[in-house]
Amino acid sequence: MKAISVSQAGGPEVLQYTDVADPTPGPGQVLIETFGTGVNFIETYERSGVYNISYPAILGTEGAGRVVALGEGVTNVQVGDRVATAQGISTYAELFLAEAGRVVVVPDNVSDTVAAALPLQGMTAHYLTNSTFPVKAGDVALTYAGAGGVGLLLTQILKLKGATVITTASTPEKRELAKGAGADYVLEYDDIPGKVREITNGRGADVVYDGVGKDTFDGSLASLRTRGMLVLFGGASGQVPPVNLQRFNAAGSLFFSRPTLKDYLLDAEEVSWRGNELFSLVAQGKLDVRVGGSYPLSDAKKAHQDLESRGTTGKLVLVP
Ligand code: NDP
Repeated sequence: MKAISVSQAGGPEVLQYTDVADPTPGPGQVLIETFGTGVNFIETYERSGVYNISYPAILGTEGAGRVVALGEGVTNVQVGDRVATAQGISTYAELFLAEAGRVVVVPDNVSDTVAAALPLQGMTAHYLTNSTFPVKAGDVALTYAGAGGVGLLLTQILKLKGATVITTASTPEKRELAKGAGADYVLEYDDIPGKVREITNGRGADVVYDGVGKDTFDGSLASLRTRGMLVLFGGASGQVPPVNLQRFNAAGSLFFSRPTLKDYLLDAEEVSWRGNELFSLVAQGKLDVRVGGSYPLSDAKKAHQDLESRGTTGKLVLVP
């Protein structure tokens, strides 16, 4: 099969479209013929060496497709089922494996493209708002990159929960998109704490979901209410350097979490709770999944360049 292989850390040019052996499902695994593979920031961190992985490697954990073979003992899915996962194994490929307990069967009225685009960013927005800081009606949430993949989903889910959403976006077009997803306030990146204080009559946000990291971290701390919670879930602008913990005291006895998706998809039950709830929202027309770019698998390099260039909106998908 064709796959995108990486043999050393580097820029997008290290992504090689190449022939590799077809994978075979082991016990408890399913083999999936790929409809689409989601492109995520984590793959740029793995490709560039920000996160340690061993090379050579085939990147990717998100994908959707049709089950074409079952490993020993698999009973929850059948050959022919359309499935999606955020935890596949090497999904930048024409075929990929997943543990059977890590896939969700895709409802008939959800398209192949949406099935490939939703799992990772959707489950992220789901755990951030249901589990890391369970949002309730009336909460004020500050998020960033409101036109991005996670950002558009996060805003929609926060609005379904009755929160007030303040988000940011760097261009007028992106601000329009963020507004269209339901954000109450869409800011530019200057003086965010001042604007959040103005919007909240001086109180500050109940929660900040910060996936931009290095450039926004200080403003995130300064935007929270006393005993508010900062959830740092990524570093699109770079990783946050070491922090003096005393700052959480000085800024108002703040709570802090640095979560990652795998710790919120611990077992098959958690996977199906989050996955089925998300697909059901899509099927009911309550959650819109914006695919901002679809690329042939062979163009993974371009997809990485675009994602890192800050120019994309919504989700990028690779199609074999
Ligand atoms: P996005 O589609 O949101 O793209 C990143 C966006 O960040 C850009 O479009 C841009 O929006 C904004 N941004 C601000 N500063 C910069 C910068 N210096 N360089 C690049 N982008 C910048 O990406 P994703 O939705 O895929 O991911 C968003 C974040 O969520 C990432 O940090 C990712 O690592 C994290 N994540 C974390 C997970 C977890 O479990 N912890 C799981 C999934 C994603 P604008 O131009 O409007 O500012």
